[in-house]
Amino acid sequence: MPQTRPELTKEEIGKTAGIIQNARPAYGALIDFYSEVFMAQAQSRANISLPPILIDPALLALKLENGMPLIDPAQFLIDPVQVSLLLKKICDLAVALAPKLANTGEKLGTALTNNDLDPEPVFFALLDNQNVEKTAKMIDIPPDELTFFAFSAMAPAIQSCGAQLSTYLKDAPELKKGYCPICGSHPEFAFFDQDGKKFLMCSLCAHEWLTLRMGCVFCDSTDKNDQHYFFSNEEKEYRVYLCDNCHNYLKLVDLRQLNRSFFPKLEQITTLHLDYKAQEKGYTNATKKGRK
Ligand SMILES: [Zn+2]
Ligand SMILES: [Zn+2]
Repeated sequence: MPQTRPELTKEEIGKTAGIIQNARPAYGALIDFYSEVFMAQAQSRANISLPPILIDPALLALKLENGMPLIDPAQFLIDPVQVSLLLKKICDLAVALAPKLANTGEKLGTALTNNDLDPEPVFFALLDNQNVEKTAKMIDIPPDELTFFAFSAMAPAIQSCGAQLSTYLKDAPELKKGYCPICGSHPEFAFFDQDGKKFLMCSLCAHEWLTLRMGCVFCDSTDKNDQHYFFSNEEKEYRVYLCDNCHNYLKLVDLRQLNRSFFPKLEQITTLHLDYKAQEKGYTNATKKGRK
């Protein structure tokens, strides 16, 4: 069955953030910022009302038969008013809580307030996989930070489309591929569920899908000599998979070892030490390289 994880409430996100913060004080400031962003996203998601994305039955059958994703990311719907409101909120949070992003938060927030920037074309350009360098230059902020802010603001809308589209996969056979069956994006994260089944979570729409237990999800290599993982005894709930064929890595959470609520986005940002370790070993993050 395709997974649609029940949304954590604002309170649950706050509680889980507190538990992780106690266990890993080094992430304190980062968690302060991101948990506020996640709570603002949860709030925004509750206000979103988008029409369903409809797929013609003949096209759906063709896509399922050929293992193709249901849509292209450019087809995701967003509510520009809600997304713009959230974008402004995230700018304010960055100014208050994220020293490294405060400058961008300030400039972007001011440009939005003064109507110097229409955010709508930025959202649609990013969904269409175009770069936003020109706009970033116009308000003198780094393009990757504009991308981060805009995607954070669009996340609730994209995820709500993903949840709606997942109903099309309800009776379809599991493809167990390394790309999202809904939008074709790379996974951001993997996890073992309580039965030890391996799932991937989409970096764009947050859809979760079953995948093969063995082999690299990025290059499909199943050569045992190429596949390794590392973990630490202090953090048995995490593993990092490394592939010597394509040199990508993937973080995994083992839910059987986790004694708190699982909020994947929070796990993702509080395991940056594992990203550094994998990158030190010479592996890269395929998610950051764009779409498959
Ligand atoms: Zn997806
Ligand atoms: Zn690989």
